[in-house]
Amino acid sequence: MKGEVFYIRKYWMPYIALLLAAVILAGCSQLRSQSGYVGSTSGSVEIPVKLDSAEGERPGGEEEAQPPIDQASPDSEPEIDQSDASEPVVSTVTLGAIGDVLIHRPIYREAEQPDGTYDFSPIFQEVVGTMRKPELLIANEETMIGGKEIGLSTYPRFNSPHEVGDALQEAGVDFVTLANNHTLDRGEKAIQSALKYWDKLRLPYAGAYKNQEDQAEIRTVSRNGISFAVLAYTYGTNGIPVPAGKDYLVNLIDADAISADVERAKELADVVVVAMHWGKEYEDRPNAEQQTLAKQLADMGVDVIIGNHPHVLQPPAWVEGQDGHRTFVFYSLGNFISSQEGTKKRIGGIGFVDVVKTTAGGRTAIEIVNPAFMPTYTYYKNWKDYRIVPMELATADELNQAKQQFKSTMSHMRSDVPDLSLIHAE
Ligand SMILES: [Zn+2]
Repeated sequence: MKGEVFYIRKYWMPYIALLLAAVILAGCSQLRSQSGYVGSTSGSVEIPVKLDSAEGERPGGEEEAQPPIDQASPDSEPEIDQSDASEPVVSTVTLGAIGDVLIHRPIYREAEQPDGTYDFSPIFQEVVGTMRKPELLIANEETMIGGKEIGLSTYPRFNSPHEVGDALQEAGVDFVTLANNHTLDRGEKAIQSALKYWDKLRLPYAGAYKNQEDQAEIRTVSRNGISFAVLAYTYGTNGIPVPAGKDYLVNLIDADAISADVERAKELADVVVVAMHWGKEYEDRPNAEQQTLAKQLADMGVDVIIGNHPHVLQPPAWVEGQDGHRTFVFYSLGNFISSQEGTKKRIGGIGFVDVVKTTAGGRTAIEIVNPAFMPTYTYYKNWKDYRIVPMELATADELNQAKQQFKSTMSHMRSDVPDLSLIHAE
């Protein structure tokens, strides 16, 4: 209920602003009509219909001299002048994120086709409807897609087929974040090959880069009149040292570097999204370090944080930064696809938030509202038949005590955000 009130309040704000604007405009048009302005321009209407009726109710003898606008042009729809600075313009975009994409050997073995190519699309078949719903979907591609030419490999040093990229894009992924503890697994060769392939797919990436210039270029994506800048960082690289002079290969967490990037990102885009590869593996609550970093990012003015790495779900939260800035944090979205064992490591999900941009009087305001989540389960049997199943629809055959698991997963995810909506499978 609390969430609904919040939601309604947020959504009424533009309408209240619109009503205020209408009252002001009505006042203006009264002045205008007194000087004969409306009468002389009744062919090209500048004010909305609502104002006409307000004017009609006004006492006075002006109506005779200046007939109501809808009489002057009975069939034409009055046009609202979009250039009017006092008219608020509201647009909304749903931003989505999925958990870790970890392509272990059994997964790429099963995807191999007789002609030597790979098809990962069956894995996403049951969640593709939900993945395509948000206008912008971000994935944490944890294993570099260096391609089979340099030799595929699994844990502890991953290298995955290029075709993982095709399948993700086909399923609805619009952006990949690449800064994680496996970025350097197979060295620069795998990174460069992967980045070349993401470029070929025209799928923007962040967190691992070809060179310094590539790293300096903050990626932005626009949807529905709202621009997003996406940044990505990792706590480390599993002890593999970053090659000397090649810091651009992977973005490491460093508060000063992040702060400088966020400042630039704020100038380039309406919304700043930061992917953080952080936390301790298999811990189902964010630790103090994650919470401190989230607060620092909120203070910087980051709008949404997408956390990954623990391989299990951690409950999301709102974090308040300086000047009351509110940041939504998905602390960990778990494993979206992997071959890890154990129920908790096979549970992940898709998170959504709505981004609302209101422009009025030359000012722009961004609000993050309506956080939502769909828990998923990676089904497989005897290291085959890998597919991501919406937990809500999982059968007892697919997941032991499926209904109970689904309920406890949602209540876990609602620990700090009780009004977190459930995204039903499409
Ligand atoms: Zn990781």
